[in-house]
Formats: sequence, structure tokens, C-alpha cells
Amino acid sequence: MQVSNPGTDAAGAVKRISVLGATGSVGDSALDIIASSPDRYQVEALTANANVDKLAEIALARGARFAAVADESRYQALKEALSGSGVTVGAGLSGLEEAASMKADIVVGAIVGAAGIQPTMASLLAGNQVALANKEALVCAGDLVMAEAAKLGKPILPVDSEHSAIFQIFDEANRGEIEEVTITASGGPFRTWQADEIAAATPEQALNHPNWSMGSKVTIDSASLMNKGLEVIEAHHLYRMPRAKLSVVVHPQSIIHGLVTYTDGSMLAHLGAADMRIPVAHCLAWPERAPANTRRISLIELGRLTFEAPDLTRFPCLRLALEALDEGGGLPNIMNAANEIAVAAFLAGQMTFGGIPTLVERTMLEMQKAGESGAAGSIEEVLATDKSSRLVAERLLERIN
Ligand code: NAD
Ligand code: MG
Repeated sequence: MQVSNPGTDAAGAVKRISVLGATGSVGDSALDIIASSPDRYQVEALTANANVDKLAEIALARGARFAAVADESRYQALKEALSGSGVTVGAGLSGLEEAASMKADIVVGAIVGAAGIQPTMASLLAGNQVALANKEALVCAGDLVMAEAAKLGKPILPVDSEHSAIFQIFDEANRGEIEEVTITASGGPFRTWQADEIAAATPEQALNHPNWSMGSKVTIDSASLMNKGLEVIEAHHLYRMPRAKLSVVVHPQSIIHGLVTYTDGSMLAHLGAADMRIPVAHCLAWPERAPANTRRISLIELGRLTFEAPDLTRFPCLRLALEALDEGGGLPNIMNAANEIAVAAFLAGQMTFGGIPTLVERTMLEMQKAGESGAAGSIEEVLATDKSSRLVAERLLERIN
């Protein structure tokens, strides 16, 4: 994307990076890139949900100034683990927001789920450039998050691999000549399965992603193709593209991550290994490029790349997400909340895999019937809808079982 970045330090200056969700899979990728280039990157603040041991370990190793744990009952443990180290500690939502607000060159938003909405907004409100992996923040509160980023005049740098790909081939100066933006999907572990087999899949089978190693929630979303639906909504916000210009193609090798088609017939693609350190490295170095010890691909070894259409019948979550985007308003937020409840219930053995789209669809319908699916004008309204959707989904969950 050809946009200027007024917030970038002078060339050669060390960038200070905060990582929200530092103990997760994307957090690991971010800390790996940071650790491998200490002359370029230093850590400012780190956060985690409850894993105090890992948080303290990386805070010490990377010389963080501040570390916060979301789970307040783990505050004392974090304090003890970091006592005498010079790392200041915090806890709860206020701790996360404090971490997000500390002056940094980039805040990597790698919290999973709607829990990332407020820390993302806090980063932007404090004037920090955000590199966002937390797609749910855009799905739930995209208009508000993008408006805040626009005020700041610093683009949100996408960490999600498909969106990072598009960022690199999206010619902002010629956006009117963009015909289509295409997001690729691996198809997940159930790409070739029959509908009844998918419906009966176990957590172990759903967690066995063919190409990517990720946190459990996004891995389940990848198996149901909800992840691709969330990503279409994410792309809609990041690139201000209408639904009609956004498409999904299944590409089982996960080598091409995104494509942009122009009105002259040119189709630009971005290729790379299925290694999240690549988009992270791109974000941290942007608008420059910097070397990174990431995986490389060999086209000769790959031999061939294949493509197929997504099947909205076997993968109803993708259909629901596209419908939610078409409908707009609060529906993507409602869908996300229901999906978070459904994924947690599936992983806890409380529901079948086939129950995920059922629960999501019923929650969406119920919230619509109750007249609670209108657009939110504030983050408080987004959070209120998120909360009531979760309550509806939890109630419906008992009936589905
Ligand atoms: P993960 O489960 O591995 O890590 C999540 C992180 O968020 C952890 O640090 C955890 O402590 C923290 N966290 C969890 N719940 C929290 C809460 N309630 N409050 C505060 N912090 C909380 O997840 P992940 O796979 O790293 O994914 C993170 C985000 O990035 C997700 O939105 C996911 O969709 C997106 N993403 C991930 C990948 C990937 O390869 N893992 C790729 C693209 C996008
Ligand atoms: Mg992705």
C-alpha cells in the first residue's frame, strides 16, 4: 500500500515494540523477530491472559519496561516473578490498556478474540501505530477502529498473512482501478471431507491444521472456514472494499496468500512460506524492508499450486460470515461472539463440530429478532452487544445439546 508513515523514526533508530498477547502463537513470532534483531527492535510492554511464568520469562529476556496480565488473580504471582527486575507490572483491563498506551513505535495486537478490542483502541487513542493480528477487533468494531486509525493518520499494519499479502500489492493510488481482492484459504483439515464427517469431527481432528501452527481458537476457525469469513470482513475494513469486490479461493498449499486484480487485467499475487514471522517482520520494518531469518519457498520443489472454489454448503460458517457482512450493522459482532462461545464449547467437548454453525446462526437470528443487531456508535455499544450475544449463545447451547 503506497501510504506515508509520519510516525516512523529516523532511519536506523531502534524501534520500541509492545506486544499484546505476547505469550501466544503470534506473540512467539513477534518476539522471535524482535530477538533476532536487537539492533532494530526493543521491547516496551508485554501482556498475557494468565500465563505469568512465560510472560515474566520473556519480559526478563527482552528487557521489557512493563508487563501486564489480564487475569487479576495472577497479579501477585507476576509481581513476585518480576520483583527486583525493574519491570513494572499491571493487571486487569487497566493493565492491558496501560501497556497498549505506553509510547511505542509499534504495538503488535496479538490478543485472541473480542478481548482485543479495548487494548487495540487504547493503542490508537494513545497515538501508537498498530500492527494487528487480532482480526476479531475489526470484525466487531471495524468502523470505530478504522476511524480512530484514520484520525491518527497511521495505517493499521496487517499481521494476518492474507492481509499482509494484500497490503503489499494493493496500489492505493489506483484504488479505483481495483476490480477484485482475493484472499486464499488452505481449506483446513476437512477440505475433502463429507458434510456428515465434518459435523462429527473431534477437537483432535479439527486442531490438526495441514499448513499452519496457531492458537487453538484460530485453528478451529480455520477448520470451519469461519476464519476465512472473519478475514473477508477484516479485509472489507482494512481496504475499504465492498463485499462484491472481495473473494475467497481455496489454495491448499498456502503459498499464495492474497491477490489483487486490476481493471487492465493484471493480477498481482503475494507468495511466501506459511510462516507468521514473515508478515510480522514486514510490519515491524515497514515502511522499510529488513532481513529476517524466515522460511523460504522453492517453486521448483513445490512444482504446482492448485485452486478450488470454497464450498459454502459443507462450510456454513463462511456463508454466515458473508451474510453478516452483507447485512452489516452489529451482525458481524454478534456472529463473532456466538462463534467464540461455540468454539470454546466444542473444545471443551460440550458440543459437536457441526454444532458450531448451528449455534452461530441461531444466535444471529435471535439477536436480529430481538432488534439488537443495529450498528454500534461506540465501543461501549459494541461490548454491550458482544455481552448479550454471548448470553443468548450460552442459553441456546443448552438446547442444542
Ligand atoms: P493464542 O491463543 O496462541 O494467543 C493469544 C494471546 O492472547 C495469548 O498471549 C493470551 O494470553 C492472550 N489472551 C487470550 N485471552 C485473553 C484475554 N481474555 N485477555 C487478554 N489477553 C488474552 O492465539 P494466536 O494464534 O496467537 O492468535 C492471536 C490473534 O491473531 C487471533 O485473533 C488470531 O485470529 C490472529 N491470527 C493468528 C495467526 C496464527 O498463526 N496464530 C495467524 C493470523 C492471525
Ligand atoms: Mg489469516
